[in-house]
Amino acid sequence: MRFCLAYSTADNFLGRDVYGELERCWLQTDAALMLKNAAENLAKTRHGLRLLAYDCARPLAVQVQMWAVVKGTPQQGYVADPAVGSVHNLGCAVDLTLADAAGPLDMGTPFDFFGEAAEPRAERKLLLSGVLSPAQVANRLILREMMVRAGFYPLDHEWWHFDCAPGAAARQRYPQLREAPQG
Ligand SMILES: [Zn+2]
Repeated sequence: MRFCLAYSTADNFLGRDVYGELERCWLQTDAALMLKNAAENLAKTRHGLRLLAYDCARPLAVQVQMWAVVKGTPQQGYVADPAVGSVHNLGCAVDLTLADAAGPLDMGTPFDFFGEAAEPRAERKLLLSGVLSPAQVANRLILREMMVRAGFYPLDHEWWHFDCAPGAAARQRYPQLREAPQG
């Protein structure tokens, strides 16, 4: 398991480090244990592959900055309105991919690609039209299988995003993180 928080670097759709001193993947205990299970299952069943996480808990203040960039654009469907909040704001979601010794596997799009090619619900069509290759879809299926087996819920419009509980249940169970988590 590796971590490389994209919003703690300038390599993200905002083009700057919006996480400041938040440098670590922080998750609610349930979510962290599920992620550990997924990583262990992957190591056991897919030799040479590991999980690489790009985002975990996200303070609400960062959600506000993200929303300001996409609001009113075609991309706004890919970012949660802070009035509702993202499951990341509860510490119950993780964005991740698969990697081998050479680096991240080819999933057909980068993490945080805002467009149909990133959408699991469109994969059959994208495969038939040649937008995605069989190898790219197979990589996504391995990631989804490992995460779903560990109890995570996939999204239908972002291949990299998984929730530790369905959105409504997560909102009942966990408070929003207004500040960056400590420790
Ligand atoms: Zn996400």
